[in-house]
Amino acid sequence: MVPELVGKLIDLGYEVLVEPEAGARAEYADELYTEAGAIVSDDALVDADVVLSVNALSSDRARRLREGTTTVSFLQVNSSHDLITDLRDLGITSFAMELVPRISRAQSMDALSSQALVSGYRCAIVAAGLLRRFLPLNMTAAGTVQPAKVIVLGAGVAGLQAIATTKRLGAVVLAYDVRAAAAEEIQSMGAKAIDLELETLEGSGGYAREMTEDRADRQRQMLAPYIADADALITTAAVPGRQAPMLVTAEMVEQMKPGSVVVDLAAETGGNVQGSVPGKVVRIGHAQVWGGENVPSQMPGPASKLYAQNLVNLLTLMTSEGEFAPDFEDEVVAGSAVTHAGRITHEPTREAIEGPSAPEPENPVVEEGEGSVASAGARPETTSPTDPDEPQLDLPFDQEADK
Ligand code: NAD
Repeated sequence: MVPELVGKLIDLGYEVLVEPEAGARAEYADELYTEAGAIVSDDALVDADVVLSVNALSSDRARRLREGTTTVSFLQVNSSHDLITDLRDLGITSFAMELVPRISRAQSMDALSSQALVSGYRCAIVAAGLLRRFLPLNMTAAGTVQPAKVIVLGAGVAGLQAIATTKRLGAVVLAYDVRAAAAEEIQSMGAKAIDLELETLEGSGGYAREMTEDRADRQRQMLAPYIADADALITTAAVPGRQAPMLVTAEMVEQMKPGSVVVDLAAETGGNVQGSVPGKVVRIGHAQVWGGENVPSQMPGPASKLYAQNLVNLLTLMTSEGEFAPDFEDEVVAGSAVTHAGRITHEPTREAIEGPSAPEPENPVVEEGEGSVASAGARPETTSPTDPDEPQLDLPFDQEADK
C-alpha cells in the first residue's frame, strides 16, 4: 500500500493498519502513512480482517491470522501448494492477484500488466545503461554516429513497453512475437515487426501457445542473423504456466558484436537466453548478459503505486456499503479466489493438490465482513530475492560483468 491511497481505503469504510517500515523499501516512511490516516502497528497482521501484501504470507505468518481472515497478494499458485493447503486448513480466504481475469472490466485490477509495464521499462533502461554507446542517431560537425539497433523478443505488455522506451531513446528497434496480433502492436510503437514466415501460435485468452521443439529450432535459426546484427537484445517472452521458452542459445549470443548487451527478463522462470543468471550480469562471448530478478522491485516507487492501485480497485469491487463482502458470483472475485471457507476454490490448484477425484467445491457462501479491515502494506512478506542492502544491479553494469 502507498500512503496516497490510504485515504481511498478509509473512504471505502476501512480502518487501515500498516506494519512498521512496510513502505521503507519503496521510500515511503511510516510518518507518511500516519499523516494519510493509517495506524502504524506491530499488531497489524493479527488484528486484520483483510491483509494486503505483494507476496504471499509465509505459513508461519498465516498461522497468526484469525480464522475467516482474507489475504490478497500474488500467490504463485503453481508453486505454493504447501501454503495453499495451510490457508485452506486455517479457514483463510485468499485471493491471488495473478489470477485476476484479464477481461476489460478488470483491467484496473490487473497487477500482471501493471508490473510488466514497470519491468519492460526497466529492461529498456538497463539495456541503455549497459550499452557503451548512443542509442539515437547523432549528426555532428565531427561526423555521424549511427543509432543503436535493439531487438525485442516477446511483445506482450513488458515487450511493448521496452520497445516504446528504446524507441523514445532513439534506437532502431525490431521486434518479434509468435502471436499474429503482436505485429500490428509492434508497428504502432514505431518499431519494425520481424516476419519469420512461421505459423503464429495463439493460445487462449490472448496469450501465446508453447512451441514444439522443431518450431523452436527453426525460430532460433531464423532469428540468429537478426541477433548477430543487434547492439542490444531484450527478451520478455513467456507462456502462462510454463517455463519461459528458450529463444536464444549461448551460441547465438556468441555471434553478437563486441560491446553488445542482452537483457533477459525471463531469467527467473528458466530464461529466454541460455546461460542468463537471475540477478547477475554474466559475459557470454562479447556480450554482457543481464538476468532479471524481481525486476519490478528495482523501481519500487512506481511498482508499489500501481500495485496498490490494483489492490484498491479490487477491494472496491469486494466492498458493499462499507463492509468487506466479496460476491463470489462475480467473475473477477470467483476467478481470483484460491481458498475460501475451508476449501480450495481455484479448480486447477485444487486438482493439483487434492487430486482429480476430490469432490467439487460447493458454491461458497458469501460471508459479511465484520467491519474493520487492515492493510499490512505493500512489503513483500516472503524473502525478497533482491536484497536492497546488497544492490547487485546498479550502474556501472560493465564492472558487474567483469567481476
Ligand atoms: P506474457 O507475459 O504471457 O508473454 C509475453 C509475450 O511473450 C507474449 O506477447 C507472448 O506472445 C510472447 N511469446 C511467448 N512465446 C514466445 C516465443 N516463443 N517467441 C516470441 N514471443 C513469445 O504475456 P502478457 O504480456 O501478459 O500478455 C500478452 C497479451 O495478452 C497482451 O499483449 C494482450 O493481448 C493480452 N492482454 C490482455 C489484457 C486484458 O484484456 N485485460 C491484459 C493484459 C494482456
